[in-house]
Amino acid sequence: MSRHYDLHAHSTASDGTLTPGELVARARTRGVDVLALTDHDDVSGIAEAMQAAEAQGIELVPGIELSVTWSGMTVHIVGLHVDPACERLLDGIRRQQAFRHWRAAEIARRLEKKGIPGAAAGARGFANGPIVSRTHFARYLVAQGHADSVREVFKRYLVRGKPGYVAGDWASLEEVLDWIHAAGGLAVVAHPARYRLTATRLRRLLGEFRELGGVALEVVSGSHSRDECRYMAELAGRFELAASCGSDYHGPEQPYVELGRLQALPASCLPVWQSPAWPAARGAA
Ligand code: AMP
Ligand code: MN
Ligand code: MN
Ligand code: MN
Repeated sequence: MSRHYDLHAHSTASDGTLTPGELVARARTRGVDVLALTDHDDVSGIAEAMQAAEAQGIELVPGIELSVTWSGMTVHIVGLHVDPACERLLDGIRRQQAFRHWRAAEIARRLEKKGIPGAAAGARGFANGPIVSRTHFARYLVAQGHADSVREVFKRYLVRGKPGYVAGDWASLEEVLDWIHAAGGLAVVAHPARYRLTATRLRRLLGEFRELGGVALEVVSGSHSRDECRYMAELAGRFELAASCGSDYHGPEQPYVELGRLQALPASCLPVWQSPAWPAARGAA
């Protein structure tokens, strides 16, 4: 019988709302056999998730979702099967977190100019782990009555062209793939349809990614439409990339995304867990 994979999910170590243990328990309830924990720029939830997965009899893939500045924009690269103790990866994480720290102060400064004081401490109050993300700012602004939903805060304050927007200054694609590979992991381009890239730019990204040793494209994502999945499957084939699937779950507050609730990978795809880069002992389908 084939196993059920969900290879992209967040916990309270970044901007998810379930602890790593709660996330694993929910994944099991939802019929997930193999779950990857992929917190933004952080691996501190992995130990707890591993323990919970062992206790509950599901397989946990240690992962991370790293922010990258590529061609003037931010893209996300998921690393799967990374060693969370790898020093090169941890150095990289420290650098990303230093930028997050600086950016949080800068976002708060800009929001203050717009009449919203105290957002730095407010956002930190919503963060349970080491990273402060825009999601934490959004939750704080909703709690303060500045908007009705997280989505609305992003639209009004936190995206490009809005008062609280600060451009990303993340690591390069080359650096991030180097950290993932140093940690023994394999790299996946996360939710490729979310970047709204032109076909030409997306092909350039995938070409560079493959050249740097990246192995998979997240063909199926909780945020992809059927058409987007089909298009990404075709691109994966063209660039000889394996296909990954992940819900990008952040917690029960977003009921339209659920752990393990994913479209099937198109038949033309090579599932990343069957690719030669996947640790062999765990690759049995
Ligand atoms: P950051 O890495 O701190 O810049 O935050 C990025 C995170 O914000 C993403 O991983 C999503 O969880 C969330 N996010 C980004 N855009 C939106 C949006 N338009 N609506 C809701 N959440 C968003
Ligand atoms: Mn997120
Ligand atoms: Mn992402
Ligand atoms: Mn994500």
